[in-house]
Amino acid sequence: MVTSLASRLLEALGPDTVRSSPEDLAVYAFDAYSEGRLPSVAVIPRDVREAALAVRIAFECGVPVVPRGAGSGLCGGAIPAQGGLVMSMVRMNRILELDVRNRRARVQPGLINLDLSRAIATHGIFYAPDPSSQKVSTIGGNVGTNAGGPHCLSYGTTTNHVLGIEYVDGQGVIHHTSLDDPGYDLTGLLVGSEGTLGLVTAVDVRLMALPESVRVGLAAFPDVESASEAVSAIIAAGIVPTALEIMDKLITSAVEAHYHAGFPLDAGAVLLVEIAGPRDDMASGEAAIARIAQQHGALSWRSSADAAEREALWASRKGAAGALGRIAPNYYIQDACVPRTKLPAVMHEIERIAGAYDLQVGNVFHAGDGNLHPLLCFDRRDERAVRAVVEAGTEILATCIAMGGTISGEHGIGYEKRDSLSLVFDTDDLAAMGRVRDVFDPQRLFNPDKIFPSGAVCGEVRAAAVA
Ligand SMILES: Cc1cc2nc3c(=O)[nH]c(=O)nc-3n(C[C@H](O)[C@H](O)[C@H](O)COP(=O)(O)OP(=O)(O)OC[C@H]3O[C@@H](n4cnc5c(N)ncnc54)[C@H](O)[C@@H]3O)c2cc1C
Repeated sequence: MVTSLASRLLEALGPDTVRSSPEDLAVYAFDAYSEGRLPSVAVIPRDVREAALAVRIAFECGVPVVPRGAGSGLCGGAIPAQGGLVMSMVRMNRILELDVRNRRARVQPGLINLDLSRAIATHGIFYAPDPSSQKVSTIGGNVGTNAGGPHCLSYGTTTNHVLGIEYVDGQGVIHHTSLDDPGYDLTGLLVGSEGTLGLVTAVDVRLMALPESVRVGLAAFPDVESASEAVSAIIAAGIVPTALEIMDKLITSAVEAHYHAGFPLDAGAVLLVEIAGPRDDMASGEAAIARIAQQHGALSWRSSADAAEREALWASRKGAAGALGRIAPNYYIQDACVPRTKLPAVMHEIERIAGAYDLQVGNVFHAGDGNLHPLLCFDRRDERAVRAVVEAGTEILATCIAMGGTISGEHGIGYEKRDSLSLVFDTDDLAAMGRVRDVFDPQRLFNPDKIFPSGAVCGEVRAAAVA
C-alpha cells in the first residue's frame, strides 16, 4: 500500500515535491519535543492544488496524513506517530493578499510568523500573536496549536486573530470558513485542532495598528514568589500591560551570558513589563507599575531608554530556552496554566519538586496569563536524569491541576499530553469531541494518535516509537 502510495504521488506530483528516501525522511520524524516513526513519504506542496491532490491520494490508500509547519511544536503534534505521509507546508509561505485599510491579510500556512510582521511594518501594522518561536514557527502551525506568546496578555492568542481559514478535507475537497459566516464558528473550531480535522492551506488574519509608543520596564525581585505577587497586584489594580513576563535567576544568568542585556544577576527573579499606547499615557502608566512593584518587594526598577534596549530585553526573553544550552545539553519544557493568584504557591511547589528530584529547573513564563514554563535541565545520556525529568514533569502538572489550573497554556496536547487530557475531561466530554472529529475526518487519518487519549477514539493505536 505504501509503495503504491509513493508511486502514485510521484506520478502525480513529481520527485521535487515527493520525497521517499530514508535520508530525506529522517528530518520529518522529529519535532522540538521528540521523535516519532519515520514517515513513509513526505510531500512538500507548492500550492493548494498539489496539497489537495496529495491528501486525496493518501486517503484513498488508507494512509495517515500529518500536517507539518516548522516542526517547532513542543508536544509531538507534528511527529508521524503511525508513520504515513508528512505534509510539509514550508513552500507555501507567501502573503497572498494584503488589505491595509481593513487591516487583514490572506497568507499561506508555511509563512513564518515574524516574516509577516516584518513584511507589513512599513504600513504601520503588525500581526499580534508572537510565540517566542516566531522567528521559525509558521502561521499554519500557530493555527494548529492556537499559539500564544508574551503579548497575548492584552492582544489574545491566535484564535483572536484568525478571521477565516481555507482547508482541505480527506477527499481533497477545498473548503473556506469565515467569521463573517452565519451559523457555527467553524473557524474557531479549526484553530487549535492540531491537524486532526483537515489540512489548513490559507489563513485570513487580523492585523493591528502599531502602537504610538512602547515602554519596557524591568523590576528585580528577591525571588519568583514576590515577582508573582506583583503580577497579580498589577492586574488587580486594573492595569493590563501588553506583556508581563517573569524569568528566574537560572534563566537570567543563562541569557545574560549570551545577550548582555544588563539583567541584574543578584536578583532571584526579574519581571519584564511592557506597556503600549498613546505617548502621553506612558509616564503615568509606568510610574503606577513601578510603584506596585516596589510595594511588593522590588529591589530595583529600570526603564528601557530606547528601542535598542527594549529589543535586547525581548531578544533575551525570547531566546531564553536556547540560552539554557549553557546549563545542560537538554531541557524539557512543561506548559501548564494556573489561576494568576496561585502563581506564588505553584512556584514554591515547583522549587520543592526540583529539589526532591535533584534537578535544575529554570522558570521563564507568561506570568500575566498564569502560563508556566518550567524548564527541566538534564542530560539525556543519563538514564536517572531522564526518569527524574519525566516524574518531576508529571508531578508539576498534577500540582497545577490541583491548584485549579489546566494541562496546557499554549503548546497544545499533541502526542505528549494526550493521556493527560482525561485529567481534565470525562469520558462523555471526550466522546463528544470524538464525534466532532468524525464529522470532519470519518476515516481518522488526519494526524492520528494526537490530542485524544490512547484508546479514546476507536481505531487509534498508540505507537510506541516516542522516546
Ligand atoms: C524555543 C521555543 C519557544 C516557543 N515559544 C512558544 C510560545 O511562546 N508560545 C507558543 O504558543 N508556542 C511556543 N513554542 C511552541 C511552537 O513554536 C508552537 O506550538 C508553534 O505554533 C508551532 O508552529 P510550527 O510551524 O513549528 O508547527 P509544527 O510544530 O510543525 O506543528 C504544530 C501542530 O500544528 C499542526 N499543523 C501545522 N501546520 C498545519 C497546517 N497547515 N494545517 C493543519 N495543521 C497544521 C501540526 O500537525 C501539529 O499538530 C515554542 C517552541 C520553541 C522551540
